[in-house]
This record gives sequence, C-alpha cells and structure tokens, in this order.
Amino acid sequence: MKKNDRKDRRLYLGVDVGGTKVQASLVRESGEIVGREKRATPRKKGPERVVAVLEKCMDDAVQKGGVGPDDLTAIGVAVPGVVDPGRGLVVFAPNVDLTGVDLGALLKARFKAPIVIGNDGNFGAYGETWLGSARRARSVLYICVGTGIGGGLVRRGKLWRGDRDSAGEIGHIIMQIDGPKCGCGNRGCFEALASRTAIERDLREAVAAGRKTMLLELTGGDLSVIRSGMIRKALDAEDELVTEIMRRAAEVLGHACVNVRHLIDPEAIVLGGGVVEACSNFIMPIVENIVGLDPLPGTRDGGRVLLSALGDDAVVLGAVAAARRLVGRSPFNKRFCVKTKFPRIERVGFGEITVGKKTFDRDVCIFVDGKVKKRDKSPAKKLYGSAHTVGPKELEAVCRRGPEVLFIGSGISGKLELSEDARRFLAQRDIKCEILPTPKAVDRYNRSKLRKAALIHVTC
Ligand SMILES: [Zn+2]
Repeated sequence: MKKNDRKDRRLYLGVDVGGTKVQASLVRESGEIVGREKRATPRKKGPERVVAVLEKCMDDAVQKGGVGPDDLTAIGVAVPGVVDPGRGLVVFAPNVDLTGVDLGALLKARFKAPIVIGNDGNFGAYGETWLGSARRARSVLYICVGTGIGGGLVRRGKLWRGDRDSAGEIGHIIMQIDGPKCGCGNRGCFEALASRTAIERDLREAVAAGRKTMLLELTGGDLSVIRSGMIRKALDAEDELVTEIMRRAAEVLGHACVNVRHLIDPEAIVLGGGVVEACSNFIMPIVENIVGLDPLPGTRDGGRVLLSALGDDAVVLGAVAAARRLVGRSPFNKRFCVKTKFPRIERVGFGEITVGKKTFDRDVCIFVDGKVKKRDKSPAKKLYGSAHTVGPKELEAVCRRGPEVLFIGSGISGKLELSEDARRFLAQRDIKCEILPTPKAVDRYNRSKLRKAALIHVTC
C-alpha cells in the first residue's frame, strides 16, 4: 500500500432522503463529517420537487466542505423504500414521493462520482455497524422508528439484502392481523402500529373522540404532523393520552424485538430514529422489560437491545460505508481502515490543560472527530447544582458519533462523577468508559488507539 492511502484525504457524500427531511453530509474516510446540509422534504408535491431539493442539498453540502463535486470519491444515497441497487431505481417508497423514479440515472447525469442508492434502514444498520453501537457485533439488526419504520440486517460486515432486495423491512412484519391499514397496502404492520405516523393517527382519533391532551396546545391545534420533540414534552409532563398511546407503541416495539430474536438471534438489536431518540427514557425500560421476560432461552446471555450511538448520522454514515464498498474500500476491510488523527494532551495542571497547541483555563471535551471544546458546565449545574456530576445530557454532546471509549478525567483529586443515568446512557450504546483521576486519564487517553472521546476536569 502506498503511504498516502493511510491519510484521510478521500471525501464521500452520504445522503439520507427521509420522510421529513433530506440530509447530505460530506464525510472523510475515517467517518469525520466535514460539511453538512439539511432541508425539509417536500410532501405531496411530486417527485420533481423532491429530486430538486435533494440535488440542492447535495450541492450545498459539498460547497460547505470547501470542495467541488469532482473531489468526491463516491456517493451513497439512502431512500426510505424498496430500491433496486443495480439500477438505482426506486421501486416503492410509501413515505416520500419517489416511487418509480430512476434516481440513479438522474444523479449520474449530474455527478461524476460513482453512486450507490439503497434502502435507508439497510444503510442505518451499516452505519451503526461501522461506527455506532453495534461496532463490536458480528450480527446486527437495526430498527429505525420515525415517519415510518425501517430496518436493516448486517452480518460480518455485509448487508443481508434478501433474494429480491427487500430483506430487513421490519416495519412491515405484521404484528396485528386485520389491524390498521399501512402505507404499504397491508394491515396491522409494525409501522402501522408504532411509527410516528401511527402515533399521530391514534392521537387524532382519540382527540376526535373527545380525549384531552396538551399536544393541542403544543401544536397550536394542528395534529396533522406531531414532532417527536413534542411527544417527549407531553411524556415528561405525564400527559395521560400521550403516555397511553406511547406505552402501546413501545410494547409493540418490544414484541417486534422478541420476534427478531427468535428468527435470527442477532448479537445486537440497535434502536434509532426520531421517535426513539426523543423518547428513549420512556421507551427503553418498556422494551427491555418485554425482551427480558421472553421465556424462550438461548444457550447463553447476549442478544442485547442497544440505542443508536450515531443518531441522525447513522444513515448518512452507512451510505458512506456503502459508497466506500462500491469503490472497493469497504470500511470493514482492515486494509482500508483510516483512523482519525486525535490531538495529544500535552500538559495538565490545576486549572489548566494544553491540548495540541492550545491551552485552556477550564474543563475541556475532546470529541470523536478530534475537535476540542471548553466544557459547558451549565447543564450539570442546572440539574445537579454542581459541575461535579456528569449526566446523560452532557454525555450526549461529548459522545456524538459514537466513540468506542470515553475517558473521563475526574479532577486532580477525583471529585467528578457520573450519574446513574449517565452510566446507563453509555451501557445502552456500548461505549466503554474509563473514569480516572485527571493525570491518569490524560495518560490513558494519549496512549489509547481506539476511537476515543474525553471529558477532562481540571480542578479538584
Ligand atoms: Zn406495511
């Protein structure tokens, strides 16, 4: 191999065409995101509008990264539906206006780089396997709960696409015979019972039947599209109707996980998507309980249900993984493994730390892409009355894009600690954590060759 190949020079474009938004990210071979663009997906305005927004989004992401379209090594595009990957034809997309569109041909006419088009759930699974919660698992099922419910199966670094390229469509397994109608045409699909669209429908029906909910206030009376964040707010406020409907949706999700276990027994099931992201505190205990009560045993422990470590970026990063594979540089092949260049912590003293060439007079966070920032102590102070407790909210920021290991420097005399919820946050995403007095943590951070992040407390 030439020496240059080890350097993180190649650029890929990962695109996620979702039911509510289009997202395009310019990504290095190591997985570092260098440019990003998001736009709302036009609804019910025809395929031309969707394609126009998609192309604009792609152009802008490339531009934001300060390069031109000719600098791209390859492009991966994720679509929520059945895609013929050979041709790039969208065969069926129930939640976005792209059914029958030859997206491959349209994009190839515009971009020179090789393009792979695939199903968003499949790419999400690929992303979580490459850099997310399933990074250590040999077999993975990813379930994405959003506008619809998508999924994907990865085994030993390869997507299981099925005989007709329609495997992993977990959203359309039937969970209730003769249940509500699904966008696919069947009845009682998992998606027709537990997606955001199904939750919205149940809420609207209940309100029409006279039930009360604070969502009417939150949405200004319009229940046609209810954002996941609003559902979370209503759950936090213990809104009776929302709690009831969400409990039911979470139970369906838990039973879907049990079904998956009995069919393929994967090492990890990773849950993601807007609804899960926003409401994981509510959903996970219900899912874990149902999976935990499953009486049919395996030969040993395992088969964990995890939360997505990549969140919004799972699908775009998976699209990049597929694009890399397209040009013969699969991220699951050790030969093409390109690592992020992390800064070195040069010096630490009481109230002072030098990372790379920069000195900070307060706590710092070092992210998985190697960037360094002052620690924002306000969430800790607000929640715990002191900056000495780290909670899940703070970890969410520090652990963006899924480090394998998080180093926490707990201070010169080790005052900093993780809350119970924070420990759960890490376990649910399979992120290892080393919490040590600061001088030791710094030494361990500098020596570690893993994909790492750090939060370093520089006082007591
Ligand atoms: Zn369906």
